Amino acid sequence: MRSDEYDRLYLSPPHLGRHELNYLHKAIEDNWVAPVGPNLDGFERDLCQYTGAGHCVALSSGTAAIHLALLLLGVGPGHEVIVPSFTFVATANPVRYVGAEPVFVDSEATTWNLCPEQLREALADRQRQGKQVKAVVVVHLYGMPARLTEILAVAAEYGVPVLEDAAEALGARYRQQPLGSFGAVSVLSFNGNKIITTSGGGALLTNNPEWAQQARFLATQARDAAPYYQHSVQGYNYRLSNLLAGIGRGQMELIEDRVKRRREIYAQYHELLQPVEAVQVGPAEPEGMRANRWLTTILLRPEHTDRTPEDLRQHLESHNIEARPLWKPLHLQPLFASSPMYGGTVCEDLFARGLCLPSGSAMTDTDVRRVVKALREFF
Ligand SMILES: *Cc1c(COP(=O)(O)O)cnc(C)c1O
Repeated sequence: MRSDEYDRLYLSPPHLGRHELNYLHKAIEDNWVAPVGPNLDGFERDLCQYTGAGHCVALSSGTAAIHLALLLLGVGPGHEVIVPSFTFVATANPVRYVGAEPVFVDSEATTWNLCPEQLREALADRQRQGKQVKAVVVVHLYGMPARLTEILAVAAEYGVPVLEDAAEALGARYRQQPLGSFGAVSVLSFNGNKIITTSGGGALLTNNPEWAQQARFLATQARDAAPYYQHSVQGYNYRLSNLLAGIGRGQMELIEDRVKRRREIYAQYHELLQPVEAVQVGPAEPEGMRANRWLTTILLRPEHTDRTPEDLRQHLESHNIEARPLWKPLHLQPLFASSPMYGGTVCEDLFARGLCLPSGSAMTDTDVRRVVKALREFF
């Protein structure tokens, strides 16, 4: 056995390049160690350029970005927000921060994301009940684009703005257009496990210059234009530090390489797992969609195995390989037991049969083969 057989394979660890230190070094040398400075400006410029969004505000997390996005869209107490049930809890928590309630909607089977038909049904039903739905959140899970044309059309039909949670999807495209540019407001995350990282961080993207200005204002304690500290509205301490933005600049230099590698890893799993009947590798790209393959996912086929994803996860763990269940649907979470849900069978089935495999862009071909070998041994 080679020594690397003992090394732990993580799901999606940070993958640093060579230039992050230069940006950090320069920031420290120039004393720009605050939530203001040239790295912040540069990082925001990089993100606008890459996504095509008109304006960008770098923030302390993706969750903070979703919170501010909801405020910009005027969501408040008594309102409702449509959220896909199949997502990470951070998509829905900020809805409660602003005093609104999430209304959950099922996924569709081809992308695993928000189902446009169920969305229409939910919007029609909320309207019938006299509820005020103020936003529709669309998420591109595991870096697979949602069915944006249909979703944007349904939302427009009901006059409800779309908040795009592209936290997992930087580098993915829909009909050639980069994700993060489809929402009235869009959101990115640079948490440690995402496709690029600032250790922790996020960004809000929009084409509306007033909203960008308002987001910047709210993220820095909402100081009025006065010589003393005067505040007319409630603000937050949500700005990204200029130091961390430096890491982001270094990471943005490599985004295309990172996407390329994650896609290769997906392709390798797909090919190597072809002979394993019990395993189906995560969704193929529908026409016009280019996923970033942030995580490679698999589903077990119950007609070919009676083992569960949890059995498999434990087996991989015994080989020092980290795997994780798919997101547990939010309508099944105790936290959201009282929230309405439309549909549910699609995401419940995905959760029951799915697992995420190690997918970090620093993985070697040998690492991928090691995971596949452990998987084949299990079946
Ligand atoms: C990571 C993530 C977030 C939150 O981002 P943070 O930067 O960790 O706050 C939101 N939504 C989805 C879908 C995510 O995966």
